[in-house]
Amino acid sequence: MSTETAFADMHVAEPELAAVQADMDALRQRWSEAGDAAARRAVLADWDELRRRLTSWSSLTNLRFQQDTRDEAAKAARDRLDELRPQLQDLEVSFKRELLASEHRGELEQSFGGQAFALWDADVRSFAPELKEDLVRESKLGADYTALLASAKLELQGETLNLSGLLKHAESPERETRHACQATYWGFFAEHAEELDRIFAELVELRAGMAQTLGLPSFTELGYLRMSRVDYDASDVEQFRAEVREELVPLCQDLRRAQAERLGVDALRYWDEAVHDPAGNPAPQPDYEGMLDAAEAMFGEMGGLGPFFARMRRQGLLDLQNREGKAGGGFCTSFPVYGVPFVFANFNQTKGDVRVFSHEAGHAYQNYSSQSQPLLDYLWPTSEAAEVHSMSLEFLTWPHMERFFGDDAERFRRVHLIESLLFLPYGVAIDHFQHEVYARPEASPAERHGMWQDMERTYLPWRDYGDLARPAAGALWQRQRHVYQWPFYYIDYTLALTCAMQFWVQSQEDFADALTRYEALCARGGSAPFQELVRGAGLRSPFERGCLKEVAAKAREYLGL
Ligand code: ZN
Repeated sequence: MSTETAFADMHVAEPELAAVQADMDALRQRWSEAGDAAARRAVLADWDELRRRLTSWSSLTNLRFQQDTRDEAAKAARDRLDELRPQLQDLEVSFKRELLASEHRGELEQSFGGQAFALWDADVRSFAPELKEDLVRESKLGADYTALLASAKLELQGETLNLSGLLKHAESPERETRHACQATYWGFFAEHAEELDRIFAELVELRAGMAQTLGLPSFTELGYLRMSRVDYDASDVEQFRAEVREELVPLCQDLRRAQAERLGVDALRYWDEAVHDPAGNPAPQPDYEGMLDAAEAMFGEMGGLGPFFARMRRQGLLDLQNREGKAGGGFCTSFPVYGVPFVFANFNQTKGDVRVFSHEAGHAYQNYSSQSQPLLDYLWPTSEAAEVHSMSLEFLTWPHMERFFGDDAERFRRVHLIESLLFLPYGVAIDHFQHEVYARPEASPAERHGMWQDMERTYLPWRDYGDLARPAAGALWQRQRHVYQWPFYYIDYTLALTCAMQFWVQSQEDFADALTRYEALCARGGSAPFQELVRGAGLRSPFERGCLKEVAAKAREYLGL
C-alpha cells in the first residue's frame, strides 16, 4: 500500500489459528513442489506477506492496548494475541527449519542475502516445541517481578508514589530529599528481598534447564542465540568489557570527582550520582505543539529525516503525550503492511522528553528507510545494531538543542555526554554479572549478591552507598528489569552507544558526512549482521581493541578534564 493511510484508519483483521495453519500447509506444499528458483522465490514472497500481515496485527493490537489500558476490548484482543503467539512461533520456526535444510538454500541466499538464514538458524536452535511450557512459566515469572515492583505505594514528603514517581526526587537539588528518596526506594527492595531473590533463583534454574533440553552447555549460549548474535560470541564481549575497564573506568572516576566538586560535597554518595548540574537539569521550553514544531523544523534541516517526520505527523503516527490510562515508557513499533513506523512516548516536561523523542525517532527513521528491504527479517536489525540508529540520532540532533532548551542547550549537551560516558561501565557490569550468574546456576542468592559486589569493585569503584543497607549488600541489580526479563540484552545498549559516540566524534569534525553515513546505515536495516553494518558506516566494531580510545580522548577534551 503506497497511499498514506491515517493511523486512525489502520486495521488488520485478527487471524484465526486454523486459517494460518491452512496457509502454512499450502505454502509447504507449494515449496515441496516448486520446480525452479522463480517458483521458490514466489513461495518465499507469499510467506513474507503472511508474516507482514501477522506482525502488523500484533503491533497494532499491542499498541492500541498501551494507548488505553482501560479499554476492555483492546485488553481482550491483547490477551488473544498472547495466547496465539507461541502457536504462531511454532508454525514459523518449523517452516524456517525446512528452509534451512533445503537443497536450494545457496540459491536463495544469493537472492536474499545470507543474514536471514543466519537469523533463522538462531531461531531454530533456540526453540523446541517441548519448551513451550517453560517459556510460558518464564514470562509468568517476569510478570510476577513487574507486578511486585508495580505494587509499590511509598510515602515521601506527604505524597504517595510508585517507584517511578518516587525517582523524580532522585534528581532533587536538595541533598536530604535525594537521600530520603533512595532510602524509601531501597526500603521497598529490602522489604521484598526474599521474593526478589526467589523469583530470580527460579528464573535461573528454569533457564539452565531449557539450555540443557536444547543440548547447549549453559544458558549463556542460549541467551546469545535468543538475541540473534550471529557474528560474535562471549569472548568478543569479554574483549569489549576489558576495553571499558581500561578506557572508561578511569575517565568515569575523574567525572565523579569533578561532579563531587561541582556539587560541593566531600564524598559523593550514591544519592548524589543523578545530579550532574547544581543549577538543576535543564527542561525543554516549548509546550507540546511547540515541541512538535521545533522537531519538524530541526528534521527539516537534516536530509531525509525532514520528509519522514512530516509524514509521521501527517498520518498521526506519533503518540507522545502522557495521559490517564496510557501505559508508561517510550517505544517504537511498525506496521509493515502500511510501510510505516509509530512512536509512543510519555512527555512530562523534563529533559528526558527530548532524549526519548530523538531516540525513538531514530528507531522510526531506520524502519521507515528500510521499507524496501526484501524480507520482514530485515525491517529491523538485531537490537545492538538497532540501538545505534536511536542513540546516534540523540547525538546528531545536538546542533538543534537551542530549539528546545534555549540558553540551556549547552548544559543539556554536557549532561547528555556525561551520562552517556557513565552509562558504559554500569552497562557492562550488568552484563558481566549475568555471565557469572549463568556460569554457576547452582549459586545461592547470597553468592549472587557477592558476584555483583565484585562487579561494583571492578566497574564502579567510586560507588558509596552510605547507610543504604540493601544495595550495600549487593542487591542493586534487582532494580534492573532486564536482568529478570531480558537476559543478556543489556550489553546491547553499551555496544550501540560505543558506535553512537563515534558518530558524535565524527559529527564534530564533518557533520554532513556523518549524517550521510548515518542515513545510509539506516537504509540497510537488518540486512547484515552487527559488525558488518557498523564497519560499513565507517565505524570501528566495539570488539576491536582501542575502539573507545578516540571517544574517551574527545570527551575529555570537550568536558575540559
Ligand atoms: Zn532504543
